[in-house]
Amino acid sequence: MDDTNKNIHKVIIIGSGPAGLSAALYVSRANLEPLVLTGMQLGGQVSTTHLVENYPGFPDGIGGPELVEAFQKQAEHFGTQIEFDEVTAIDFSQRPFKVTTYGDEKYADTLILTTGATPRHLNVPGEKEMTGRGVSYCATCDGHFFQEKDVIVVGGGDSALEEGLFLTRFAKSVTVIHRRDELRAGEILQQRAFNNPKVSFIWNSVVTAIEGENAVQSVKLKNLDTGEETEMVTEGVFIFIGHYPNTDLYKNQLDMDEQDYVIVDKYMQTNIPGVFAAGEVADSHFRQVVTSAGMGAAAGMQAIHFIEAESD
Ligand code: NAP
Repeated sequence: MDDTNKNIHKVIIIGSGPAGLSAALYVSRANLEPLVLTGMQLGGQVSTTHLVENYPGFPDGIGGPELVEAFQKQAEHFGTQIEFDEVTAIDFSQRPFKVTTYGDEKYADTLILTTGATPRHLNVPGEKEMTGRGVSYCATCDGHFFQEKDVIVVGGGDSALEEGLFLTRFAKSVTVIHRRDELRAGEILQQRAFNNPKVSFIWNSVVTAIEGENAVQSVKLKNLDTGEETEMVTEGVFIFIGHYPNTDLYKNQLDMDEQDYVIVDKYMQTNIPGVFAAGEVADSHFRQVVTSAGMGAAAGMQAIHFIEAESD
C-alpha cells in the first residue's frame, strides 16, 4: 500500500494498564495524539485490584478501577485516543510499523508496548474445567461469591496474602497452601495474615488436583516433605503463583530474556529503533503500579524525543 493511503499514527500504545496510560499522558501532552489499543482488559491487572495502598498521593489507598479511570481521563484530556480493540499481529520489519487488530490495520511511526503480564496457572487436573466454577485468579472479581465459604489460596507471595486477606471479608476461612515453609511475601502482609483469625496455612504442600461435580468441592494436596496425599474440602480455589509476560505477539521479532520478557535499555528502547516497551511486559522484578507508570512515562518521553530527532 502506498504510504499516502495509510492512516499513520505518530505513536501507537498497545495496552492500557498504568504503563500504557502513563505513556499516553506524556505523549498526548506533546500534542502527538497517541492511539491506545486497550486489549481485552482496560486498565490491565490493577483494574481487578480492590485497593492500591502503595501508589503515592493516596494516603488512604485508592481502588484499582478508580485509579485506572483517573489515568484514562487524564490521558484523554490531553488528546489521547482510546480504542477498545485487540492486536492480533505486528510487523516490526519496516516503518511505519503495521499493527493488525480484530477490526482494522493501523500504522505507527513509533510503538510503545505495554501489554503486561497474565496470572500463571497451576496446570493441574480440574483447574481449567473449574475456572469460573470455584477456581479464580482474582479475589476482587470473585470474592463476593464466597460468602461464609471455606476457600483456599495457593501461593506464598504478596499477591497470595493480599488477596487472601481481602477474601476474609467474605469467606468463613481462608487456608493458604504454600509449597515451602517460608513465605515470599513482605513482612507487613505476613504479620497481617498471621494475625487474622480467619487465615491459616498449610506448608510444604501443593495442589495436585481440583475436583467437583459442577463446582469445586475439594482439592487433592501433596505434602512435598512426606509425599503424603490428602483431600481437602473447599468451595473456592484462588491461585496467585506469579505471572507470565504477554509477549506472544513479539516472539522471533524482538529480543526477549529467558523468561520471555521484552529486553529494554534504560531508555525503554527495545532492539528495534522506534519500538519501546514499559511496565510488566519488560519488568519481571518490580511489578508495581508506580514502577510501571514510571516506565510508561519514560517510554513516552523517549518516543517524543525519537520523533523530534527525526523531524530535525
Ligand atoms: P511472586 O512474588 O512470584 O510469588 C509467587 C508465589 O507462588 C511464590 O510464593 C511461589 O513459591 C509460588 N509458586 C510459584 N509457582 C508455583 C506453583 N507452580 N505451585 C505452587 N506455588 C507456586 O508473585 P506475586 O505474589 O504475584 O507477586 C509478583 C510481584 O508483584 C512481586 O514483586 C510482588 O512483590 C509484587 N506485588 C506487590 C504487592 C504489594 O506490594 N502490596 C501486591 C501484589 C504483588 P516460592 O515462594 O516457593 O517461589
